[in-house]
Amino acid sequence: MGNTMKKLFIIILALIFLTVCAKIWSDQANNKSNVQSPLPVQTQSEPNVPAKPAVLKVHFIDVGQGDAILVQLPDGRNMLIDAAARESESTVMGYLRERGVDRIDFIVGTHPHEDHIGSLDAVIKNFKTGEVIMPEVTTNTRVFYDLLQVIKERGLSIKKARAGVSIFENSGLSAKLLAPQATEYESLNNYSAVIFLKYQDVAFLLTGDAESESEKEMLAAGCDVKAQVLKVSHHGSSSSTTAKFLQAVSPSYAVISVGAGNDYNHPHPAVLDRLARSGAVTLRTDQQGTIVFESDGKVINYSTSK
Ligand SMILES: [Zn+2]
Repeated sequence: MGNTMKKLFIIILALIFLTVCAKIWSDQANNKSNVQSPLPVQTQSEPNVPAKPAVLKVHFIDVGQGDAILVQLPDGRNMLIDAAARESESTVMGYLRERGVDRIDFIVGTHPHEDHIGSLDAVIKNFKTGEVIMPEVTTNTRVFYDLLQVIKERGLSIKKARAGVSIFENSGLSAKLLAPQATEYESLNNYSAVIFLKYQDVAFLLTGDAESESEKEMLAAGCDVKAQVLKVSHHGSSSSTTAKFLQAVSPSYAVISVGAGNDYNHPHPAVLDRLARSGAVTLRTDQQGTIVFESDGKVINYSTSK
């Protein structure tokens, strides 16, 4: 090999060496930029903080003259008892949406009066729905017809509300019907599904518009009606909440769902007087707005929002 050839060979070797080095550096630089930032460290929960207790929430929604009660069960299921008048449709649906409710597992139409079932058809149309529970009675009104139509369109079946029927029952949590006890009444109000909702040591008695006849039947049947919270029947009408029944329930809180300045003069002064003398704290949706009870099964707290 001549000198010129040697030089040329060395130059080629040097070029190859430089090219390889440049490639390695460039790969290293690329790798550097591809390095992923470390995963965020998962925060461990404090070992000494006990788990949040499962809470039952019962919302007496301010819907003017009528009833609409949202029950949020500790296991995440929802029950809606009545859905107020048709004119309160947006109030009821807005309230449910604001609380993130998208499925209502149990829908109870206590009895087919407009101030209880008026917005139920809209609720069933707009929310995922489980079971529908209503008493076996019909009425010749537009809202009732519309409700049956929607139930049919959605392929839902109706569970008949009658004393002794269980809506749900598991691990200290239950909802049972105490009324209607009979199958025929003169007044539609007495067909009202009366619900005894129990969560461990705490009970709610939700009466729809049941009148004194139904109250008498529940007591005669030996129903345990004792509850910390009573939904005062029929918006505080004098047709209901007899002294005997009130004594048996012996509530700490009495909730009246009623519209301000309503045409029926609800609640009746005699009922307010009975409630005051019973020692119960009386709460009214026309005065306090929406009333929400919360319980861990032992203690009950409530809040109001007007
Ligand atoms: Zn009513």
